Amino acid sequence: MERSSLEALVRDNIRTLCPYSTARDEYQGPLGVFLDANESPYPTGYNRYPDPHQKALKEQLSVIKGLPAENIFLGNGSDEAIDLLFRVFCEPGRDNAVAISPSYGMYAVAAAINDVAVRSVPLGEDFSLPSRALLDACDARTKLLFLCSPNNPSGNAFPPAELEALVRNFPGIVVLDEAYADFSAKGSLRAKVLEYPNLVILQTLSKAYGLAGLRLGMAFADEYVIRLMSMVKYPYNINQATQELVSKVLAEPIGQKVAETVAQRARVAAALPAFRFVRRVYPSDANFLLVQVDDADALYAHLLADGIIVRNRSRVPLCAGCLRITIGLPSENDKLLQSLDRYEKGDIHR
Ligand SMILES: *Cc1c(COP(=O)(O)O)cnc(C)c1O
Repeated sequence: MERSSLEALVRDNIRTLCPYSTARDEYQGPLGVFLDANESPYPTGYNRYPDPHQKALKEQLSVIKGLPAENIFLGNGSDEAIDLLFRVFCEPGRDNAVAISPSYGMYAVAAAINDVAVRSVPLGEDFSLPSRALLDACDARTKLLFLCSPNNPSGNAFPPAELEALVRNFPGIVVLDEAYADFSAKGSLRAKVLEYPNLVILQTLSKAYGLAGLRLGMAFADEYVIRLMSMVKYPYNINQATQELVSKVLAEPIGQKVAETVAQRARVAAALPAFRFVRRVYPSDANFLLVQVDDADALYAHLLADGIIVRNRSRVPLCAGCLRITIGLPSENDKLLQSLDRYEKGDIHR
């Protein structure tokens, strides 16, 4: 896609928006006398507004992710990036988005809040990517295509070549949510944002990095798209404490924890089929397993009464009878398997 066709996808009011600017954008030194923002001069650790451009954090992430800082957007969770994409590209009440189903619930919620219709396209057999049907569902008012790989709740990652073909053939913005990519052998397509201006990759520190409580989501995209998202966001969307704490945690490698989770995923997946009530354990590239059982509601209630909280996905399309189980610490996975054992032996909570 050419830059000019990309610009044509943007809402008129956003293309011509004059964003909020701060006086501090004009002063680069750290030790000035700051009398511009009506802050308190008395130090609390947080008396100054945080960097609205998150420069230091983006430089750090740029090294880790192998992309220029200009191709990185930081949000209050991926959820902020999802909402901003609707606000940048979709004219409320007129434009639409296409999404795979089942997938992450926030795409439909953010769409509804922005008064944008979502056309859900069911995944194919064994949760395969329905590329043809996704393209067929698009019309001249389709601005966004939401894909998620590894997908929540099915757990599978789609073949990178199929995802890339969709990016090439879809005439709008392809949003590829890679919240679970750190757990997948198929890796990430984020380097492709330098090649395809209509590709937006979402990642988050909420899963493999263990920072769900700090709220930091990332979007990787063409610099033009990043500039648009940065113009529309609240100026100080990432608070000072988050910027500082994330910076510290990023200095620590996550490889060992991810490897343990992946090993535990294999262990739990191998143990589950031995239970008579387990019908199917779907292959997973993420930090959870989707498991089809005889009576999902009964098993869910049993686990809950045992103090084990899983996600009942049995009313989600294509997931009849399914629970989604996050991989925990080895000791937590032990407790899960012991509780399943009690359930099988009839020592059950109802
Ligand atoms: C958990 C999850 C996220 C994370 O969202 P944050 O707002 O960054 O915490 C994003 N996408 C998917 C598919 C998820 O499952």
